[in-house]
Amino acid sequence: MKWVNSMSLTKDPDILYADESKAVNCGEKNKIRRGTLYLVTTPIGNLSDLSDRAKKVLAEVDFVAAEDTRNSAKLLALIGVRKPLVSYFEHNKRERGVEICDRIEAGESCALVTDAGMPGISDPGEDIVKLCAERSIPVTAVPGPCAALTALTLSGLFTARFAFEGFLSTNRGERSRRLSELKTDSRTLIFYEAPHKLKTTLADLYEAFGDRRISLCRELTKLNEEIMRTTLSEAVSMYNEREPRGEYVLVLEGCSEADKQEAAFWSEMSIEEHVEFYIADGKSKMDAIKACAKDRGLAKNEVYKHFNK
Ligand code: SAM
Repeated sequence: MKWVNSMSLTKDPDILYADESKAVNCGEKNKIRRGTLYLVTTPIGNLSDLSDRAKKVLAEVDFVAAEDTRNSAKLLALIGVRKPLVSYFEHNKRERGVEICDRIEAGESCALVTDAGMPGISDPGEDIVKLCAERSIPVTAVPGPCAALTALTLSGLFTARFAFEGFLSTNRGERSRRLSELKTDSRTLIFYEAPHKLKTTLADLYEAFGDRRISLCRELTKLNEEIMRTTLSEAVSMYNEREPRGEYVLVLEGCSEADKQEAAFWSEMSIEEHVEFYIADGKSKMDAIKACAKDRGLAKNEVYKHFNK
């Protein structure tokens, strides 16, 4: 007689099951469980990426919570599923999250689908999972395509260590603080960006990080998928000549060892000493302030105020 854990798929008469109640599910690994939230990943641009398991869960749960009910109704229609839909999005997530959890606690099963991709990655999926965790409601995932990881694997950059940064804040101060924190991070950095903000973000990345390699991953999994492996300076000038279109993930090379050492060199100086260093090297005061701000990832006026006290 041998022991197995309860996730075994086949029921073998010679096996003594550790937990007979769980063993009943053997061979029914994909059976929909009552009182459970399913995070169902949907395609990021190619319907064929919807998995069989995702289709089964969408067809069999009691109801679907969707970030955009119109988009999700279309998706359900395409796979021939009719299901009650409730909306769950940024501006109703607090109250609606509680209502959804109440229904799940009462025994219903729910599939959460966000606009596209993996729920919980830069969308309100994160909040409902936190709420379920607080209320000890079971959550499980039906994984699939995520724009960030798809872009990373196609970037041609170092993939062993990376940091997902999602969307940068539109608040100037917060954005520049975050960029300056990331300046010496040697991991590959992944950003999401909307097309109408792409030019500003590329310019900000160039100002903060200098001329690093970047892969602009556009329209992933769609007919017009494009991976532009370039540098920040080239990306900035390319988009001075054309308008960005479609969805983008930006994958940026991490800080090199040489740049890290340079940053450490500056960090041992005060801001005043840093500026004086450039002046002694022949720069005008204004150019020295600009160069110091760039090295430290600071706004020019933050350096300037040290000379205006
Ligand atoms: N949860 C999603 C995921 O798993 O990737 C991300 C949702 S976030 C609100 C939307 C952002 O993801 C877009 O602004 C874009 O940066 C990125 N994105 C989504 N689909 C994409 C695609 N097909 N190609 C490139 N980027 C995409």
